[in-house]
Amino acid sequence: MKIGFIGLGRMGSAMAASLVRAGHDVTVFNRSPEKSRTLIELGAHRASNIADACRGDVVITMLADDEALVHVALADGGIRSSLRTGAIHLSMSTVSVALAKDLALAHERAGQRFVAATVFGRPDLAAVGKLFIVAAGDPATVEECKPLFDAMGQKTYSMGADSAAANIVKLAGNFLLASAIEALGEAIALVGKAGVDRQAFVDLLSSTIFPGPAYKTYGGLIAESRFQPAGFAAPLGYKDIRLALQAAENLGVPMPLGTLLRDRFVRLLAQGGRSLDWAAIGGLAGQDAGARRAL
Ligand code: NAP
Repeated sequence: MKIGFIGLGRMGSAMAASLVRAGHDVTVFNRSPEKSRTLIELGAHRASNIADACRGDVVITMLADDEALVHVALADGGIRSSLRTGAIHLSMSTVSVALAKDLALAHERAGQRFVAATVFGRPDLAAVGKLFIVAAGDPATVEECKPLFDAMGQKTYSMGADSAAANIVKLAGNFLLASAIEALGEAIALVGKAGVDRQAFVDLLSSTIFPGPAYKTYGGLIAESRFQPAGFAAPLGYKDIRLALQAAENLGVPMPLGTLLRDRFVRLLAQGGRSLDWAAIGGLAGQDAGARRAL
């Protein structure tokens, strides 16, 4: 397929590379142009502006947050004013439920199509085309995007015709991940201060009663206090907890644990943690317990 890809950060650069490797005709654009160099070497085409990336069947966005996506999609010269009639905007960033709804409407009014497809998996999974993709939107349009999902991910889950469903599922998933990180941080601080080997504790738990990537990956990062380089940066994790709480408030769903997690991020960022992985909130419990090297 002829695809435009906008947003070549940690995730977007790896996802666009998977599409090129799968044989798609990919034109890339990024606000900071130097990030497209590796992809051009791999065979992608360079777009000199957003409109240039909107000449194909589909344009994919993988941007930091609502502000970035609003700018790229809805500003003058953005996706809505550049995409041809019937073409698809495939939005893969983790953004608010409200923005997913606004974009679906804006594209419909412009005679274009919109699919939200959020992803689970960090840059290392993106690099090998093994993300888990959560797609929602008109079923026929989601089906048309399937070859792209197959190139970027190992499995795609369809969440129905309301595109915003992909965003609420992603936010709920990240709320669970952040909860696991906080819980791991507290448990690891406890065993660590008692003199137990932190990594041995994580190995035991993640191979017995808590198997799975969340406990294994984040347990390992916290046990080793390995929060740099960031795979998923702390400010983006903070964004997701705030978006989950915003959606919860709109729906009338109390999430007391979410409020606690938001405060953990506020503390981490206030202490200069902007460049750390979001797993660093799991280091705060160790710091509270007086550990020498918690962050
Ligand atoms: P990242 O490395 O920080 O990249 C962010 C991208 O957004 C960059 O291309 C950046 O451009 C662009 N951007 C930011 N503000 C912009 C603006 N105002 N106008 C235009 N472009 C702007 O982030 P990431 O880790 O790839 O994450 C991208 C999205 O995927 C986020 O929504 C994140 O929550 C989600 N996600 C991340 C992970 C993960 O593990 N990292 C996993 C699943 C989902 P510049 O290069 O010019 O700064």
